[in-house]
Amino acid sequence: MAARLPVAGQPWGQVRERMKALAAGDVDWRRGRAALYVFHPGEEVLEIAHEAYGMFISENGLAPSAFPSLAQMERDLVDMAGALLALPAGGAGSMSSGGSESIVLAVKSCRDRARAEGRVPAGVLPRIVLPDTAHPAFDKAAQLLALEAVRVPVGAALVADVPAMAQAIDARTIMLVGSAPCFPYGLIDPIAQLSELALSRGQWLHVDACVGAFIAPFVRANGADVAAFDFALPGVTSISGDLHKYGYAAKGASVVLYRHAEDHAYQGFRADVWPMGPMATPTLAGTRPGGAIAAAWAVMHYLGEAGYRERARMVVAAREQLEAGVRALGLEVFGQPLLGICTFGPPAGDLLDDEATWAGVWAGLARAGWTTSRSLRPRGIHLMLSPNHVNVIDAYLTDLAEWVGRARRGESLPAPAARGYG
Ligand SMILES: *Cc1c(COP(=O)(O)O)cnc(C)c1O
Repeated sequence: MAARLPVAGQPWGQVRERMKALAAGDVDWRRGRAALYVFHPGEEVLEIAHEAYGMFISENGLAPSAFPSLAQMERDLVDMAGALLALPAGGAGSMSSGGSESIVLAVKSCRDRARAEGRVPAGVLPRIVLPDTAHPAFDKAAQLLALEAVRVPVGAALVADVPAMAQAIDARTIMLVGSAPCFPYGLIDPIAQLSELALSRGQWLHVDACVGAFIAPFVRANGADVAAFDFALPGVTSISGDLHKYGYAAKGASVVLYRHAEDHAYQGFRADVWPMGPMATPTLAGTRPGGAIAAAWAVMHYLGEAGYRERARMVVAAREQLEAGVRALGLEVFGQPLLGICTFGPPAGDLLDDEATWAGVWAGLARAGWTTSRSLRPRGIHLMLSPNHVNVIDAYLTDLAEWVGRARRGESLPAPAARGYG
């Protein structure tokens, strides 16, 4: 029966119990059984995010004059992210509700600059050229903003094929995209080459570091050889980075940064159309949750560089243990991941390299309690790791060995749930 507003209010204790009952069917991320959707930095960080969110739960980031606190925190977050990503003086940025919004905003800024410069002939859809591994948020942006997204297949190394992207540029193209890293395989595109291409062809280059911005700098500081992917490369025009992923903030927090404040200026909305006079907003939102801004600010200050480096070390340790275990089972890791995502699958032509069989292995692991996603091209299982996963990789590998063994022996495997992500 459809829910209805109760006539009389219900006691909170009773309401809370019902919510707990609802949550009983959710994935068990606190014990490390989910390697997507949730980033678990440890209970004490969650408590701090929770308390900070509560302190500003009613405040509204729409009104910087009414809430200078939030305006200051947003400036600080943009500055801190900018410093991690080598944003030069003269740059600018905003907070948004998440990676998708940050990407839509960057694409809108690019489109509106191209329009202002008269580079978009009337009657044609401008194009953005992206590697096939780029997040569908770019296609969402293209749909919303009346653009065309041109997806270019990746090369054998599963990263952006820069010569092929160069070929895809035409008179309508206004933006190139690279990921650091891409979501499907966790691999960083050759951003230095894309930067050169963007400079030589006069293109805007957006680097989607949604899932990399708040881990890659710390993995590098810990000693790994992470190539430059940020504003240190002169052709990088804008970057998206999600605080609610490896920034460990409460959900609803991302940043979008621009090398030039003039480009950021194209992002905003202004209208003087209604009885209240002019209205201006920097992002898509009107009302903006103070809690999300405050929680991100609190977590970044609480963790500091040392806290992020420690968590990056744990994530990398989990990934390296996973990679070794996967290879020991005769499976292949896709490319050379450096950060928190690892995707692996059967070697081409292997007995397991079959749609139903590989899907059955993944579904068997789901039955054993592991919430992960899978890639369809190539066939893979995809894990996005959090610090607490260091404690469960052994258990995961035991279950993986079990299901790989069953598949190799030709035993019957469960049917997978619906394909796809989301
Ligand atoms: C998560 C992600 C996005 C989208 O971010 P949301 O916060 O889910 O909207 C975009 N790009 C990449 C690479 C991502 O990992």
